[in-house]
Amino acid sequence: CGIVGVIGPREAGPLLLDALKRLEYRGYDSAGIAAVGGDGTLSRRRAAGKLRNLEARLDADPLIGHTGIGHTRWATHGAPTEANAHPHVAAPVAVVHNGIIENFRALREKILATGATLSSDTDTELIAHLFAARLTSGEAMKDALMETLDELEGAYALAFAFEGEPDRLAAARSGSPLAIGFSADSVMIGSDAIALAPFCDEIIYLEDGDVAIVSPHQAEIFDSHGRPVVRPRVPVPLQV
Ligand code: GLU
Repeated sequence: CGIVGVIGPREAGPLLLDALKRLEYRGYDSAGIAAVGGDGTLSRRRAAGKLRNLEARLDADPLIGHTGIGHTRWATHGAPTEANAHPHVAAPVAVVHNGIIENFRALREKILATGATLSSDTDTELIAHLFAARLTSGEAMKDALMETLDELEGAYALAFAFEGEPDRLAAARSGSPLAIGFSADSVMIGSDAIALAPFCDEIIYLEDGDVAIVSPHQAEIFDSHGRPVVRPRVPVPLQV
């Protein structure tokens, strides 16, 4: 029920865990974080139950990388198990998702028909497969993302990290809120200002249908037609 992401100078794991703690008020049943190391290696840790379970995993086996995404889940498709916890991965894509994909059955049939294997019962994993197939066939990041979103019916806030891409994240929203935060040295993604407040000075609330391609120090934002847009960048509210 919460999404966070970061590209910056700090290790992503502990930072994203702190940001997820600020989203606990929304409720959740499981959680996870993925990070991309400087060499492009994507790794993730997930746990059912409270964030302290995820924290124990991270303490025992820390993630390496300054770029990453994190999630607290409120299950809609699939039981609240570790296997169904986000991030979901279909190489090179890792995704976290809040919301529901309504055409889940049709998409699942389509993906299974390509011979792909699914490792969860979630609607979310399907998004990773659709996006990964387009990237693997050589499509550019933004086109692959927008065409993937065209296939989805339902509500979503999404954040993506990419194996082999330590300097890039992507985000999209339709029907669920999502914001981009900025500090002097980092760009973050968050479900709301509460998640981002201690870490960021300025924030952009994405508008419905927007997608964002995030790289160090900047976020390129496009509207639902793929046109570059400038959204207001406002100071982070002090009292959140
Ligand atoms: N529908 C997704 C799932 O069940 C996302 C749930 C959420 O909003 O956390 O995994």
